[in-house]
Amino acid sequence: METGSKQGLSTRSVHAGEVRYNEYGSVTTPIVQTSTFIFKNVEEIRKLAQGAAGRFEYGRYGHPTQVAAEGKLAAIEDAEDAVLFSSGMSAITTALFALLKSGDHIIITDDAYKRTLDFCRSCLNRFQIECTVVRMCDYEAMERTIKPNTRLFFSESPTNPYLNIMDLERLVSLFKPRGILIISDSTFATPYNQRPLEYGIDLVVHSATKYLGGHNDLLSGVVLGKKELTAPIREYLKITGGVIDPNSAYLLIRGIKTFELRMQRLNENGQAVAEYLERHPKVLRVYYPGLPSHPHHDVAKRQMKGYGAVVTFEVKEDIDYVLDFLSRLTIVNIGPSLGGVESLITHPATISYYDKTRTERLELGIKDGLIRFAVGVENVEDIIADIDQALAKAG
Ligand SMILES: *Cc1c(COP(=O)(O)O)cnc(C)c1O
Repeated sequence: METGSKQGLSTRSVHAGEVRYNEYGSVTTPIVQTSTFIFKNVEEIRKLAQGAAGRFEYGRYGHPTQVAAEGKLAAIEDAEDAVLFSSGMSAITTALFALLKSGDHIIITDDAYKRTLDFCRSCLNRFQIECTVVRMCDYEAMERTIKPNTRLFFSESPTNPYLNIMDLERLVSLFKPRGILIISDSTFATPYNQRPLEYGIDLVVHSATKYLGGHNDLLSGVVLGKKELTAPIREYLKITGGVIDPNSAYLLIRGIKTFELRMQRLNENGQAVAEYLERHPKVLRVYYPGLPSHPHHDVAKRQMKGYGAVVTFEVKEDIDYVLDFLSRLTIVNIGPSLGGVESLITHPATISYYDKTRTERLELGIKDGLIRFAVGVENVEDIIADIDQALAKAG
């Protein structure tokens, strides 16, 4: 859905945010590798005080490569403004600190990103900000949880690792009339597959480390939305200091240029791998919103253009068996993260939740046979052949 935009997504991905003819005539945006910006004369100092556009002061307050990347991100999400950070977690924590004050109450869903949940549960309450965790997609429970001081609702869609889908229309009708801000972490959807702002979600967050950067070579995060909401977050970034460095901002600009191409391929590969796994006799269950067997397939079909490249599946509950399967892979790499060109596979029980006991893991819904596969852009026949031989030999 590119409603309201004059240019297509790839045109914006390639050109938006960048100066057409920069000072050096380089077709690429320069990496302005500096910590500070000097003044040519007193006139320039006056310009800064008057808030002249394009005049920079100090790296933590913003720099040209960051501004170009922000312009590109705002253009592809159709957002009024984008604020870039050094990581997804920096974006999330700075946004929440900027928007909340002591005495506020927030609601978050139970299968949100582990570190976001940690922050809401164990950091915010030290500042007398109360947090209630509700079950994902239990809209009645969400309604019951609302209090007079509820300021904000935070959620993700699709979620990790089960790819649950939140009904964005329902969220907006539940929280907006009560004046409660809604933030949606849309990392797994990307602006290609889902447009939460078009539904009335107040702010969208992405870990740009994933699909937006797209090459497993940078860390970054972004908050997008109306300026009246992003402006206080940008001010707070100047205090918390999670600014993106010029090199990462450049890599992000470069990664986004092929965003639409990669997403088309990733959506195709994700769907093909999910369908293959669902047919495999050794696979007990597949979670992928593009499969009719997924519990939220209908909502996903309504609000998403494609379903991304993360496919979660279950095999037998046996850690040794899963590790044997992983060790036999020859193309797919073992590791966390997602959204890059390289296929990555992870076993949450031993990689993300190794510090928990089996009972604690099961309480969180992480079974020993659960595998999360972030499919890359390799040729899908080769990816499937790799999984197929490893499944055949494992045991
Ligand atoms: C990775 C991720 C984050 C954190 O982003 P970083 O860039 O690693 O700090 C937050 N939310 C989701 C859904 C993620 O996948």
